[in-house]
Amino acid sequence: MSDHSISIVPRQSVYPDKEIKAKEILDWLVSLDIVKPTTSDCILSSTDGYPISEGARTVSSDPDLLPFGLWTSGLEIITERQVFHTGQNGMEGLICPNCKQDIANEDWDFLSEWGDNKSNHLTCPLCNVATDIHQFKFTPEWGFSDLGFTFWNWSSLTDSFISDFKQKLGCDINLVYTWI
Ligand SMILES: [Zn+2]
Repeated sequence: MSDHSISIVPRQSVYPDKEIKAKEILDWLVSLDIVKPTTSDCILSSTDGYPISEGARTVSSDPDLLPFGLWTSGLEIITERQVFHTGQNGMEGLICPNCKQDIANEDWDFLSEWGDNKSNHLTCPLCNVATDIHQFKFTPEWGFSDLGFTFWNWSSLTDSFISDFKQKLGCDINLVYTWI
């Protein structure tokens, strides 16, 4: 079976006091018994994640499809700059805010400007204008931040949970659906 994930990513390349916020969000999720407080090998990463717990049923719109019993089923908290891409879901469209052209079919090398931490901007390969990466329109959504929360193999999250999450982060977010 292939794995998938849902990532909640602030629409900020550099999130202020990200470690403090990561801990605050973790404490909130643990207080609702959505994840367990101690880490284990439950995510597709070299680091450990926080295992799924019973309260997850209250924040999923398809609780029967939650990955209870699966190995890869935890929450990964990322506090390093990362491109949250969609994996096999790919990129159908990427619209430059300046020239409005779709650059999804151009060479994706221009993404390394952000990925290599040279800039929080992307330079459009067609018009050569650099704009903040979050002004570009990615379809489906991608995420670009040094903070992110990835739920491995979880079924859809409820709108109210996503809205609470947004409120905790204090900024707009990208929801990134990834298939490995
Ligand atoms: Zn352009």
